[in-house]
Amino acid sequence: MRLTRFTRFIFILLAFFLFGSLLTHAAIAQSSQSIMTPEQHFGFKPGADRMLFDYEELISYLQKLDAASPRLKMVEIGKSPMGRTMYIVFISSEENIKNLDQLKEINRKLALDPDLSESEREALFDEGKVFFLAALSMHSGEVGPAQAAPLIAHQLLTTDDPQILTWLNDVVYMMVPNHNPDGMDMVVHHYRKYKGTKYEGSSLPGVYHKYVGHDNNRDFVTLTQEDTKAIARIYNLEWFPQVMIEKHQMGSTGPRYFVPPAHDPIAENVDAGIWNWTKIFGSNMITDMTEAGLAGICHSYIFDDYWPGSTETCIWKNVIGMLTEMASIKYATPIFIEPNELRVGGKGLSEYKKSINMPLPWQGGWWRLSEMLEYEIASTMSILKTASIYRKEILTFRNDLCRKEVQNGKTKPPYYYILPVAQHDQSELVGLVNLLREHGVAVYRLSSSTMLEDKSFNAGDIVIPLAQPFRPFIREVMEKQAYPLRHYTPNGEIIKPYDITSWSLPLHKGVKTIEMNSRSESFENLLIEINEDFTLKKEIPSNFTVAVLNVNNNESFKAVFQSITQGLKVERLNNKISLTGIEVPRGSFLISNDPKLGSIIKELNVTPIVLKESITFEATTITMPRIALVETYFHDMDAGWTRYVFDSYSIPFTVVHPGNFEKTDFAKNFDILMFPDADKSILMEGKYKTKDEYYITDYPPEYTKGIGKKGMENLMTFLDKGGIIISWGRSTGLFMGKLEITRGKEDKEEFQLPVRDISEDIQKAGLYCPGSLMKTTLLEDHPLTLGMLEEIGIFFRGRPVFASSIPSFDMDRRVIGKFPEKNILMSGYCEKQEAVGDKTNLVWLKKGKGQLVLFGFNPQFRASTPVAFKLLFNALLLPGI
Ligand SMILES: [Zn+2]
Repeated sequence: MRLTRFTRFIFILLAFFLFGSLLTHAAIAQSSQSIMTPEQHFGFKPGADRMLFDYEELISYLQKLDAASPRLKMVEIGKSPMGRTMYIVFISSEENIKNLDQLKEINRKLALDPDLSESEREALFDEGKVFFLAALSMHSGEVGPAQAAPLIAHQLLTTDDPQILTWLNDVVYMMVPNHNPDGMDMVVHHYRKYKGTKYEGSSLPGVYHKYVGHDNNRDFVTLTQEDTKAIARIYNLEWFPQVMIEKHQMGSTGPRYFVPPAHDPIAENVDAGIWNWTKIFGSNMITDMTEAGLAGICHSYIFDDYWPGSTETCIWKNVIGMLTEMASIKYATPIFIEPNELRVGGKGLSEYKKSINMPLPWQGGWWRLSEMLEYEIASTMSILKTASIYRKEILTFRNDLCRKEVQNGKTKPPYYYILPVAQHDQSELVGLVNLLREHGVAVYRLSSSTMLEDKSFNAGDIVIPLAQPFRPFIREVMEKQAYPLRHYTPNGEIIKPYDITSWSLPLHKGVKTIEMNSRSESFENLLIEINEDFTLKKEIPSNFTVAVLNVNNNESFKAVFQSITQGLKVERLNNKISLTGIEVPRGSFLISNDPKLGSIIKELNVTPIVLKESITFEATTITMPRIALVETYFHDMDAGWTRYVFDSYSIPFTVVHPGNFEKTDFAKNFDILMFPDADKSILMEGKYKTKDEYYITDYPPEYTKGIGKKGMENLMTFLDKGGIIISWGRSTGLFMGKLEITRGKEDKEEFQLPVRDISEDIQKAGLYCPGSLMKTTLLEDHPLTLGMLEEIGIFFRGRPVFASSIPSFDMDRRVIGKFPEKNILMSGYCEKQEAVGDKTNLVWLKKGKGQLVLFGFNPQFRASTPVAFKLLFNALLLPGI
């Protein structure tokens, strides 16, 4: 019998009704059998007491699922800082997984195309799926979310629950099974090492990352770390998910689980719709999780959302971005919590009582990993459900917002940011352009000179128009920050920020920017988009005798450090010179040509001046100092950031821990001893101390040794013999008050450097500066300020502040940097800023042949203040006295 198309259709339909459900069940049963359970793979059920799997075990399980199930696909997204491969695990219906490329294209159009016709939009809304990105356990001590990953994946792949299958039809779940693979292995291996000993559950000594530890969630504006870049690329350039969640843990004795919305303050530049969507997802989570019998869910608590450093930076790029926070245990070791130990405190909850922000408090008792994973699974399922219910609305919202932001950019000032190509530090201009492109921002160059608002601009100047989908992000990072000041009650206490308050890229990098408040079509006609890596490099002849590198460019220092360590001759100009009409400032570098120099210069983005004939300049040869960098085991992120900056500028160094000071002959082995920002009592005694109280930490005891008396003697001998000490932040406290040099049994010299920390008095005068950019004037013509502008912004958190004094004996001091008298705040928030008016924040000191450079600020703060980097580099090249 020959069937017509119609009868064939009816036949298939009948067959489906008769056998469909049987067949589907059989197919699922078959595929479920071939899908290995987590227990079979790991040898224990994830969540079992005191059991953790590491990153490699997690990935090998997911790879097995990838091979076994058509509902899952793994895609590589980059490498971690220590070289582990990172992935997105896509989980969705079989059909969606097959169509990932088409669905990705739909995401891109909805995210970036403001000019879709109504019919195109409708077609995309019908075909498109909600992409929901979840980044798990970026903070590696927060093990729960990543340990839940195999359970979530297995459940989604083997379920025959029609409701969940509907969700998988509407939603593509993009799981990054661990945002920080290196840290996951560090923590799991540490836990296993001490398991069964009395130090089971002790904190991991050091940072859980190659460099930055917890601050990996502070890097999403500056994008310095490989793992940050890999995650940010997902929503900036590649997949354009509409929903993102980052999964964290908090302390043990508060609520069990925090869901959105966040607490005030919220970012001014982010559209109201984003905030409203986070409320919808959050209120569904609290409802679904509570209905599932999970107590202690809270929202609108502690975590605010106005600062773009975390993964949630995606909200400035029109993604519905959120975070959850779960109560912790000691990694996988359960804890018992007495009911009267439960407490809250902070924005949104003042008592641990039933309240609108926590309608069902948890009552205390045992808290274990298995329960934590139940919370994780429930919150993930709830997000899938919400994304499925509102699939079409979420896709519509995404394209509506794209249209709205582009329209805002055409109708509301500012219209453009212009970055003149002539900059004090041209290498930072190049860095800024490439960073913005990495953020998915379109950047243009002027094709010819022109005028706008009575200002003239040159061909090659950089233009960033605001009529772009990511307009909120452009504004956020290009303007000066004004803290969104809110109060708990009218005129009452202010709502304090969770983190820092300044991140303006031009100010932090020292790049001059002009904000334009009028639009011009003829101006826009001169713009050419930059579509590849931006550089100001030009071809240079290879037969030169000497290359001249301008000291104003940060990248010159990188070439210099590479050259010296490779044995090339490098000199610094003693005076400014003029070469072919170009002024080259004092302190610039001369590098003699050498076969090795070619590859070093190739890496530069700003071309050096090269001279064919040898001309004699007054210059001083420089050498590479032997640097000891002090890092404590107390999750010392500032030391980690310093290591990162040193590695990226090719500066060799040796890490020294305070407990090793006693055994280290600094005077013999090092020229420079560097103390990043660390607490004095941790450095000296290996303990936290506030006022007269000590806090004993839970690090294994071998990691809690301080410098001690003998170690301090070694340090002072180093200074006495002509060593250089560089110190900033709290560690400068080591050098205040009475110091002692021991030269023999009878020869002890007591002295006090001509400086003290006056920050306590300044706090009493009302200064509150939670992390802001503050204007500073620098002493001109000093070895520490070569290549610096006379006035910069330094990143300041309120202390220390110095007062120098008249020196005695063989000591001396120079004030290198100080706050102006008024108008000090450049970006961020500061109360009573005038309290630091005219006060010193950078001082050079001499004691005998030794020198100290004390900073009242972190010159390399989170690698996000290149404007101050040269102060640090110059300190490394300080001439002896
Ligand atoms: Zn966290």
